[in-house]
Order: sequence, then C-alpha cells, then structure tokens
Amino acid sequence: MSITTTEIRKLNCNMVYRMIYENDGVSKDMMSRTLHFSLPTISQNLKTLLAENKICRSSDRTITGGRPAVLYKFNASARIAIGVEVLAERLHIAAVNLRGEILREDTLDISFLADATYFSIFGAWADRFIRSLACSPSDILGITVALQGIIAADGEHIMYGKILNSSSFSRSDFARHFSLPLSLIHDAEAAAIAEHWYNPALENAVYLSLNPFLGSAIISRGSVLHLPQLSSGTIEHMTLHPDGRLCYCGKRGCADAYCSANSLLGSAAENLPGFFQHVCEGNIRAVQIWHNYLRELALLIDNLRMVMGSDIVIGGLLAKYFTAEDLQYLKNSVLAYTTFKTVDFQLCTGYHAEKAALIGAAITRIYSYLKEEALIP
Ligand SMILES: [Zn+2]
Repeated sequence: MSITTTEIRKLNCNMVYRMIYENDGVSKDMMSRTLHFSLPTISQNLKTLLAENKICRSSDRTITGGRPAVLYKFNASARIAIGVEVLAERLHIAAVNLRGEILREDTLDISFLADATYFSIFGAWADRFIRSLACSPSDILGITVALQGIIAADGEHIMYGKILNSSSFSRSDFARHFSLPLSLIHDAEAAAIAEHWYNPALENAVYLSLNPFLGSAIISRGSVLHLPQLSSGTIEHMTLHPDGRLCYCGKRGCADAYCSANSLLGSAAENLPGFFQHVCEGNIRAVQIWHNYLRELALLIDNLRMVMGSDIVIGGLLAKYFTAEDLQYLKNSVLAYTTFKTVDFQLCTGYHAEKAALIGAAITRIYSYLKEEALIP
C-alpha cells in the first residue's frame, strides 16, 4: 500500500510537533539536523503548527550570545481537559492543560442525590466554570467525571455505587447538560493514572488511595489496569479479618474497615489535622492508634505483595500526613509479616494526594489527544 503526499506531509508535521513536545525550546537548525528535513520543510511545518496554536515562539540569547535565537515551544494550553470529582458531599472541578497542570479549579458543597435537581445544578455549575476559562469550545477536549463507584463495561451505567448510595443513574444524566463529550471513570483508577503520568518509571505497582473510603488500582507493565469485571482491583473489599469490623458493603472484615481514613478517624474520634497534631506531639494514645492503623495497612500490603510482588504507592487524603519515619515503620511492619523477608520493594507516597482522581480524570483525555497527535506511542 503506497502512502500519499498528504499523508507524508502529515507525518512530517507530526514529527516536528513531537520534537517540540519532547524538548523545551527547539530552534529550526536543531530540528533540521535531528529530523534530517530541509529548513524550508521545517519552516512550512512550523507555520502550520503556529497557525493551529499548537506551538509558540520565544527567543533565547544564551545560544548565540548575540542576536536572540528563535525557539519553538510546545503550547501546553492549546487544549484543555476538564476533570470532575463527584464525592458524596462535594463536587470538585478542574481545567487541566496538556502538561497535566491545573489551570483553574472550583468546588461546590452539595450532597449527591441521583435526581434531576442534582444533575441540573451540576450542569449549570460546571458550564459556568467552563465558560469562565475564556477559551474556544473547540480547544476543550471534553469532560471526564471520576466517581466513587464502579462503572459498567459499557461506560454508561453504574455497577456498584454504595458510597454514593445509588447505582440508578448513568453517564447521560451528567452528559445531557453539555455539548462536549463526557465520560465516567472509577476514582481510584483516575488517581492511579495521575500518579503514573508524573512517575512514568512506575512499571508495576499497587496504588492505594487512603481517602475517607479506601480505593485502589493496579499499575501493570506501565499502564493502569482497566478490567470490566466488578471486583477487579477493588482491594478495599478483600477480607483482612474474617468476622471483623462491619464494612459499608455489608460484609465483615474488609480492608476498608481497617485501612480507610474513616476507619482511622473512627478509632481516633477526632478530625485528621487534630489527630496528626497529637501524633506529632508524641501523644501516647494518638501514636498507638496511628501505629495500629499502619500495622493493618502493612498486613494488607503484605497480602497484595504475595499476589503482585510490586511496589506500593500511597495516595489519597492521608498521604500528606506520612513522614519518612511512618513509611519506614510501615515497611518494617510489612517485612515483619512477610514470608520472603529478603525481597526489597519501594514504598512511597504519591505526587497528588487528594487531587489525584481529579487530575487523573482530565489526564485520560490528554492521553487521547497526545496519542491522536502521535506525540506519545
Ligand atoms: Zn467491604
């Protein structure tokens, strides 16, 4: 099958765009030498990319020492993705650029209710936010909504929505208020996508989201596993203690009942900042509760490592409270439980803490754009 002239031009343009994406400022000469294109070909492609607002120009005197060299840079704001996080008591929205950075965000305190009034309020609030961005609608890649629930394989319906106390709503309830494309994603999966975006070296890992409810996702061979089965990666409902504490799912002894932020707060009977202030001050009761919590988490991590043998990333609300000593205590506790004591592993906190799901939801659309433009494989 032969390739047409138009296709060759498109491929050349993609190569120039990719080189600019991968380098923070490139001159025409650098592009010509690296890509083995003539300067007129480079100029033609740059003209196209500038007209599409995909790149921008800047100058740098340090290269020539005299007349400033014109450098071409990736325009990270050329497209914007919208991430939304739906929590039981709050909505959170963010506009994220092509580098995965939040440009603007907003929150709305509102209890989730699967009725027309809730979705109408959501639609008006999100629409106002998007209009406030003052960019062309064609520059917005779309909206991805991260939910505390498991989405069916069709991407439309909710298979399990106990935290939001409903599974009788669907993607169309959110989408009907927008002309932009809108999709749903499980919040823990979105959070793991955000972590992997900022740490692409993460090949195999279990991501634990220590939020009011425990969430989890699996990163395997450099990508977040997305499996349609209901129970895939839902580590929060693995049994840690048979006949133990009651979980919100109705079962007893689930990991959520021991390793979620809510379970810690239940034991501590105070708010998180207050509790960790007491831990910092060495309050004996607070330290004991915290260490009990870390040992339960270690038990869960040891079980996970017997299946995955991978590194562990701690994210979510609690992540920002972990000190280096806490991580070491947690790791020592895992090693105390484990059968294979000589096998080392990485245990670290994530980059985004409680904003990971919000950013990750938007990043799903950024990945699609970067792939369409052949900027990433
Ligand atoms: Zn459960």
